[in-house]
Amino acid sequence: MIHSCFVVAIDGPSGTGKSSTAKEIARRLAIDYLDTGAMYRALSLKALQSGVAPSDAAGLGTLAGQLDLLFPQPGQVILDGQDVSKAIRTPEISGRVSSDCAHAQVRTILVERQRQYALGRSCALDGRDVGTVVFPHARFKFYVDCDPRVRARRRVAELQAMGVHADYDDVLANLVERDRLDSTREVGPLRRANDAILVDTSHLTFEEQVERILSVVRAGA
Ligand code: C5P
Repeated sequence: MIHSCFVVAIDGPSGTGKSSTAKEIARRLAIDYLDTGAMYRALSLKALQSGVAPSDAAGLGTLAGQLDLLFPQPGQVILDGQDVSKAIRTPEISGRVSSDCAHAQVRTILVERQRQYALGRSCALDGRDVGTVVFPHARFKFYVDCDPRVRARRRVAELQAMGVHADYDDVLANLVERDRLDSTREVGPLRRANDAILVDTSHLTFEEQVERILSVVRAGA
């Protein structure tokens, strides 16, 4: 029985199934869910619409501070009153988001928003620096990893299911490049927290990866 509010932090490289897993865990535990990647993606969409370049740290910082963003239900993202849940997943956004989100000012603002979101509630969050920077004292931390080729195959299937055309080689190249940018940036780089439990999903079904995390949360609660 879990008595107080708690955070389940799920980090890892792109396309490991973190988001779907975190969403399902939140549903089964009846807690809230925040996709932190969707916040950075929404910023990239806003920057694209506003003509702000990925290299413009000050411009992106200003946009980050003004983001009118809502998450009415898991998986749904509302930016400036518009449902952008699908628009933030296009290859164009995936191609620039890791550059946009590397600026210190952007990260400070969005990390603070993530902390505010979790105030007074139990939630599962997935991202790159949730267990290391956003919630270093999270009660539960996981690092989800997976063979890049398996990730690319899964991502192509996901995008196709959403009606977004995707080419396997392009998707694989984008995943590898985003991992490189995410793990080498100076602020909030992708890395496994020392106390995060590693879950390699390369040979796990979705149900198995959900169960692996849920069993730890239930046992530690
Ligand atoms: O999780 P997803 O792949 O949708 O995230 C999109 C991008 O947002 C990542 O490639 C990464 O550059 C960035 N991101 C981040 N920190 C997070 C979540 C996502 O830098 N906590």
